[in-house]
Amino acid sequence: MTSITIHASRSYDVLIAPGLLDRVGELLRPLVKTDRAALICGDIVHPLYGGRAVRALERAGFRVCVKVIPHGEAHKDLSSYGEILSFLSENELGRGDAIVALGGGVTGDLSGFAAASYQRGCPFVQIPTTLLAAVDASVGGKCAINLPGGKNQAGLFYQPLAVFCDPELFATLPARELRCGLAEIVKTGVLFDRELFDSLRGGYDPARAGELAARCVELKRGVVERDEFDRGERRLLNLGHSFGHAIERRSDYTLSHGETVAIGLSMIARAAARRGFCSAENADEIVSLLRTLGLPTDCPFPAEELLGALRHDKKRSADALWLVVPRETGRCELVEVPLAELGGWLRDGGAP
Ligand code: NAD
Repeated sequence: MTSITIHASRSYDVLIAPGLLDRVGELLRPLVKTDRAALICGDIVHPLYGGRAVRALERAGFRVCVKVIPHGEAHKDLSSYGEILSFLSENELGRGDAIVALGGGVTGDLSGFAAASYQRGCPFVQIPTTLLAAVDASVGGKCAINLPGGKNQAGLFYQPLAVFCDPELFATLPARELRCGLAEIVKTGVLFDRELFDSLRGGYDPARAGELAARCVELKRGVVERDEFDRGERRLLNLGHSFGHAIERRSDYTLSHGETVAIGLSMIARAAARRGFCSAENADEIVSLLRTLGLPTDCPFPAEELLGALRHDKKRSADALWLVVPRETGRCELVEVPLAELGGWLRDGGAP
């Protein structure tokens, strides 16, 4: 079993091993004083893995109640959040009881937001079931829901008690969802690790899922430990996300998070090359790796239609937005771009 300890405002372990789903009860037992747990999962994940999770928790003596939420980014909203809070209250969960998120980034973000706010904070555990959640979303303590005005507009930092990652669960992921996880791995490679980036050139090998998750978590750990609350270096993790979030929202969430990260990453790489931050060859290798992995790289919306969403971006100051810009594969930097120049950056990135 791989164990990576994250020393943030709460220290916790990210455990990665095949078969971990059936051991979540025994692993959670020593971390909490309660015998009650609320399992939150999406309606696709529930029939696949909900029963095993419940049985594993019950074997360790937990009494479990289960809340199933509709899947999809459009449901990472106030309504689902309210439903989860009502469910916790109706089932008389107390502030020492455990909330267990079983699912992808949507379930993790929603459940974490609910766990942080219900009775001012309950013990919270993540069991990522998507590659994307394993390599990124389940670690680092950012929890958020979308508001009509924009993505992740209501959010907070709330570190879990533990993350239990079982790479065998990715076997049932549709190819499209698997690719979304690959987009975040490419992002991590472009940010910090050329070797990781190069290792994907031959395509994705499912046998490497655990190893890829471990490498990405290790790299994210350093950033979270140095800047847990996103005041400086952690903003680098938004590489590809500023343009990506705007496209995701503009598509009414018909394009997924991972797909729009891939498009956003391609756009910022192209714009960086045009503006002399990195070489054209560098931008080409980023775009072509994403394409090799089957991800979209072209912006489907005109720049004018994305500018409104960019103005809601959390990395915005009064009249500028911080963009994460590649210098070379493995090294990026934050660049403050005046709002008036954003249209030019989008067009340099390939927006029509
Ligand atoms: P997701 O949670 O919507 O899951 C994708 C789809 O796969 C869903 O339909 C889900 O039901 C299905 N699914 C999940 N696990 C499955 C499995 N094992 N087998 C079959 N189907 C399965 O999407 P995601 O890509 O995991 O996460 C995207 C979300 O994560 C976005 O909301 C994004 O903003 C968020 N995110 C958060 C952070 C963070 O630091 N908190 C980081 C990155 C992304």
